[in-house]
Amino acid sequence: MPDFPGVLILAAQRDVRRDMFDAFDHVGFRPILAARDVAQAESLLLDEPPLALVVLALEADPGRVLGFAHALRSRPAYRDTPMIAVVDDTAAMDTRLLAPVFNDWLRRASIRSELLPRATRSIGDATTSAAATPAAVAQESPVAAAPASVTVPALARHDLASRALSMVAALAGCSSDDAGLADGVATVANTLEFDVVSLWAFQPEHEEPVELARFCAPNLPAEGPSATQQGLLKVALRGDAVVALESVRGLGSDALVQTLELGAYAALPLMDERRVVLGALVAGRREPVADAATMEAALRTGANRFASALELRAAREQGRARGLLDAVTALPNRLLFNDRLDTNIREAHRTGECFAVMFVDLDRFKSINDSLGHATGDLVLAAVARRLQSNVRASDTVARYAGDEFTVILRHIIKRDDVLRIAEKIVQVMESPLMLGDGSELQITASIGVSFFPDDASDSEMLLRHADEAMYGAKSLGRNNFQVYASNPDTMQQQHVALKSKLRHAERNNELRVYYQPQVRADSEDIVGMEALVRWEHPELGTISPAFFIPLAEASGLIVSIGAWVLRTACIHARAWQEAHGFNLRLGVNLSAVQLMQPSLVETVADILAETGFDPQHLELEVTESISVKTVPNLVESLDALHALGCRIAIDDFGTGAASLDYLRRLPADRIKIDQSFVRNIGVDPDDEAIVRATIDMAHRLKRGVVAEGVEIEQHLDFLRANGCDELQGYLFCRPLPQLAFDKLLNERARILAGGLAPVDHA
Ligand code: C2E
Ligand code: MG
Ligand code: MG
Repeated sequence: MPDFPGVLILAAQRDVRRDMFDAFDHVGFRPILAARDVAQAESLLLDEPPLALVVLALEADPGRVLGFAHALRSRPAYRDTPMIAVVDDTAAMDTRLLAPVFNDWLRRASIRSELLPRATRSIGDATTSAAATPAAVAQESPVAAAPASVTVPALARHDLASRALSMVAALAGCSSDDAGLADGVATVANTLEFDVVSLWAFQPEHEEPVELARFCAPNLPAEGPSATQQGLLKVALRGDAVVALESVRGLGSDALVQTLELGAYAALPLMDERRVVLGALVAGRREPVADAATMEAALRTGANRFASALELRAAREQGRARGLLDAVTALPNRLLFNDRLDTNIREAHRTGECFAVMFVDLDRFKSINDSLGHATGDLVLAAVARRLQSNVRASDTVARYAGDEFTVILRHIIKRDDVLRIAEKIVQVMESPLMLGDGSELQITASIGVSFFPDDASDSEMLLRHADEAMYGAKSLGRNNFQVYASNPDTMQQQHVALKSKLRHAERNNELRVYYQPQVRADSEDIVGMEALVRWEHPELGTISPAFFIPLAEASGLIVSIGAWVLRTACIHARAWQEAHGFNLRLGVNLSAVQLMQPSLVETVADILAETGFDPQHLELEVTESISVKTVPNLVESLDALHALGCRIAIDDFGTGAASLDYLRRLPADRIKIDQSFVRNIGVDPDDEAIVRATIDMAHRLKRGVVAEGVEIEQHLDFLRANGCDELQGYLFCRPLPQLAFDKLLNERARILAGGLAPVDHA
């Protein structure tokens, strides 16, 4: 565990978590422990790493998070650790609840602008009043709400804290070259009102530390004493901070303090992540400081920035000297990338962080180089480097691995989807035309492969190899796309070949079954329909899920006859239930893209309806959202023709594809089935909840019915009901049942409706 005090951030929603992370990452604050939920936070704090601050978002499960905050307070290690709460923008939060544990709070919308200054202030407050009084909750900042009862000292502190923020923001924009460092030093002096600020660093060719930048008030001598004359600076350069902001008494004799007659003084060591001292920041002023704790926190934040600037500078210089940077793009080269990857892996083993490795290969770059010359080739590489860098975060690594191959480490991955989104974005930005010096345009594309640590491999070689394999997968799929590494493609392929030949006989050998899963009305929970789901009961392998064998059946074309068999069987069963129970249930049957591509589909359906005598208006054909006009050119016509037969159409797995509203409007669909991946996240991921809500709303606006799939728990039911979903399907009500069991279920229903007196029919 790190010995630097870090910050713990907790937020269920990834955007919130990312904003929090970025706020601290931006100023080089380390380490940042990020948790998605209380359980993860608890596991991160198992060995009690020192924490400078805790920031908890109360959006998803406020009760649980509040409980966690109380529990932290009761642990001696975190008794005095400042805590900040982040509350929803709209939630009517009773902030009095926060007072006993939190030092401050802010709204979600103000994380970007406010989190850092609040953090600086809270850390400052905590050092002054460690455990003296129970922490009081500060009023929300004057920016957001009326500062009803802010006390005068709090205001003064806030003023200093906001100056510290502007300093941090300005420092973040400074470059690490000489001029940039001089600007940075002047910024610290001006915003924090110091008369002298100087930045010292160890340099490769110099024995003594070198003063890289110095700011001095006009009425003071411009030249300061040398490093050897400054005893306190030497202490800092050994790694110990000297802070005397209220009074310099007791500091002993120091050349700078004495010649400038300083009344406040601080010398802070600048260290890299491994705690190697790179230099020191010295700040002094004539007058002592009123709010020393906040000032110290501000200075330390500034010092962290200079430390990362020095680190970057050193890495650059070393890189140049040792050949670790690529001359064309100024990106790390293969050597440095491998080193970073190893460091990342070591760290991730310790912190439990997940990250992704990406291989980005330019398609047909060689022909650009050959036809337009190396100079143009270099321009393209430099542009690609910029495009890559501007689409990842500062803490990610982009490297030129070889020729036209780039590698990227995407750190701090919370969801695989985040990485996929970045990969997709990179594919897209690469496509936009590049302007060449002579005014001509050039278009390049890239193929990307992705692998994940620790899921795909836990060492750098395998991670890279997997990303590379996936990249070749992307190339073989027509380039200009990305692929994620799929474990064990060889064995998977072998299995597939074997199963496909078995599947060929399944229908004839009578190994296929149709199961039925009820669909119920959200309000009354009464059954209104059922979905037919095929099962393959293999004599040796047992029941095989359609999710596995349907793709095989599609690939081999067998789905056409299997699909027709399912439809016929289901129509026969449903017709029998209509007759036995005297009421009409809607029957849902899935159609695959391959079936939809058959010109004979409509005829097949019409024949089956005629043959079984099932009324088409009770048949609903389910078409998954991912089927597009691209894959099935005659999609709209086929669906129209099925509609004309009297059948209904449902869009299945809604939300997983990328159907546009316009596309949906054009499809002759009667109902939308919300995919279970969203339903599963109700109560877990507010983003997915928002999608569910929006889908229901949109379906209703388009005058379509809406069914939610995968309803498993009461919480899903409550949410869907509250948001006006029409019908529900899921394990909460019933699993898919074989024909006989479904028949029993219908009998049971009839018995209950009749007053529970009729005998159960077990036939
Ligand atoms: P689908 O059409 O979206 O069917 C819903 C799937 O969700 C079914 O999986 C069902 O058993 C499952 N499910 C229902 N409620 C819950 C729940 O509460 N929790 C969870 N975790 N799962 C639930 P199943 O039967 O394994 O079918 C998987 C997919 O295979 C279907 O997804 C459909 O796309 C395809 N499929 C099934 N039968 C056929 C068929 O006859 N023809 C075609 N073309 N595809 C079929
Ligand atoms: Mg379905
Ligand atoms: Mg579905």
